[in-house]
Formats: sequence, structure tokens, C-alpha cells
Amino acid sequence: MIVMTPEASEAQIEAVKERLETTGVHVLVLPGELTTAIGAIGDPEGVRELGLEGMEGVDRVVPISRPYKLASSELAHHEATSFSIAGRVVGGGTTFCLIAGPCTVESREQTLEVAGVVAAGGASMLRGGAFKPRTSPFAFKGLGSAALEILAEARAATGLPVVTELLDTQHAEAVAEHADVVQIGARNMQNYALLEVAGKLGLPVLLKRGLSSSLEELLMAADYVLKEGNERVMLCERGIRTYETATRFTLDLSAVPWLKLHSHLPVIVDPSHASGDRRLVEPMSRAAAAAGADGLLVEVHQDPAAALCDGPQALFASDFAGFARRVES
Ligand code: PEP
Ligand code: MN
Repeated sequence: MIVMTPEASEAQIEAVKERLETTGVHVLVLPGELTTAIGAIGDPEGVRELGLEGMEGVDRVVPISRPYKLASSELAHHEATSFSIAGRVVGGGTTFCLIAGPCTVESREQTLEVAGVVAAGGASMLRGGAFKPRTSPFAFKGLGSAALEILAEARAATGLPVVTELLDTQHAEAVAEHADVVQIGARNMQNYALLEVAGKLGLPVLLKRGLSSSLEELLMAADYVLKEGNERVMLCERGIRTYETATRFTLDLSAVPWLKLHSHLPVIVDPSHASGDRRLVEPMSRAAAAAGADGLLVEVHQDPAAALCDGPQALFASDFAGFARRVES
């Protein structure tokens, strides 16, 4: 919708109309009492690129259609998307998906032990970082390929499908070989080349919301994966940057019902990275479930004080079964 200024002349209105028509959209001139509005019905992409804001007599251009497409619940055939990962159903409202495990694969023993505990406690998937995005380049960056082997062993031992992060397109093959779900981390939500590679791997993708990304941007990032023909995308709210510093990030719980309204994709909440504090993980997990989340992603460690990464937010492995029971009840 193009809104003209009150002073716009007939010639200026005609010029806008003509420029719109070059893109093949249907143009509707709507004269009002004070100003004239011009509706453009059709593909909004071409219209966005016309530079109408700079034309004489144009006051503003107001987009009516949504900027995300494939992730949108408006997409013709889309009911809530649900899919199965090694027998675990995600989305669709009938099952709750509990993804749990250590922040990082630190050793074979540590990972196998936590994997056994979360499997026994009722987790549906195991998480664990092999390639870690660290804010400081001097922090532990994960065991890399060796960690992928350990995760594969943990899967074989527990039967739990494995979720691990794809940090760099260079690791795509190795990650695809060992993972059941490819995680795209918050810091890479707008790494479009990586999103396209992830979309092509043929594995489900868990897409985390960027630290300072809007929900519209999250859905446009999901479009990058979906357009590669990969329909199995989970959205993950993991907290955003706000002025509040008491928690590590601010868990945006309203993202859950908003995403459920505007997208057909399953929504997972990560209260561990959002809060940075294990004492907040259970209340926020319960709140996420009440808000309609399709599942949770939580970090668990047998000895959080000794964890190489994110210890303060890790649930004690010994508390996991109780946590899972209370959250699912
Ligand atoms: C993680 O899940 O280990 C992680 C690094 O999360 P985020 O990308 O949300 O910070
Ligand atoms: Mn972590």
C-alpha cells in the first residue's frame, strides 16, 4: 500500500501507478478525503525493489503482506507441522519433546553418563556440542570430530537421537554423518550461507533465535532452510538481549504463542541459555509448557561445577528425572 501526501498531484499519482504496473501487480487507486492510497496486489518482492519511497508525492509505503513465506501459517496447505525423528514426534500438539544433555561433549565418560541419565529420565533426544560457538576465541571450542564419534556412541547406547550444532559449512558432512538433528546456534541465525547448507543436508534443523533478532527475522531465517525443500524445521526461543542483566538473556515467552499463531513450525524453548541459572530453568520450563511450547532444550551435567562450558545453568544429572516428571505433569 502506497500512501501519497495530501499535496500529491494527479500526475504524481499516475507516475506511481505506472511504476507499480511495470512489476505486473494489480494496481488499485483509492482516493480518500485527505490523501490517496494506492494498493498493489500481487508479488510484494518486486514492489519492494522499486524505490517508491523516493518518488515525488509519496508519503510512505506500508507493507501489508508478511515478509516470511514458507514458514508462515498463511501458507495454503499448512496445518501445524509435525514430524518424527527416530520415532520421536515433534510438533502437532500431542507429544512434548524434551531435548537434554550437556552443553559440550567434554569426554566419552561424561557424555555417556549424562546420556544414560537423561534417557532414563524420559528425554526424547540428546543434545551435546561438538563444535562450540564461544564469545571469546580463547574459550574451549569443543572436541570437534572426536565429539561427534562420542555422540554417535551415546546414541547407540541409549537409542536417543542426537542434536548437535553445525557451526561452519566446512563441518557439514561430518555433522550430517553423525547427527539426527542439526542445530543452528543463535549467533548463526542470520548466517544465510550456513542456513542454505543446513537446509540441503536432509536432516531436521533446530533453528535458534538470534540474540537480538525479531520473530519476523527468525521466520525469514527459517524460510532459508525451508526453501531448500527441507520441511523439518524447529524454531527455538533461547532468550534475547534486553536492558535486563539479572538473567543472562530475557526469555521471550510471548514468542511461543506468537510463533504458534504466525507459523506452522514446532516451537522449542531453551530456558538454560535464556536464564543462565539452573534455579530458573524449572519454573521457566513449566511456563514454556503452559505457553504452548512443543518442547524444551535443557542442559544437564553430572558435575556442573566442573563443566567446561555453561555450568551455572546446567541441571544436576541427579535431578533430571524429577525435573522431567514435574515439567510434563
Ligand atoms: C547451545 O545450545 O549450546 C548454544 C550455544 O546455544 P545458543 O546458540 O542459543 O547460544
Ligand atoms: Mn550451552
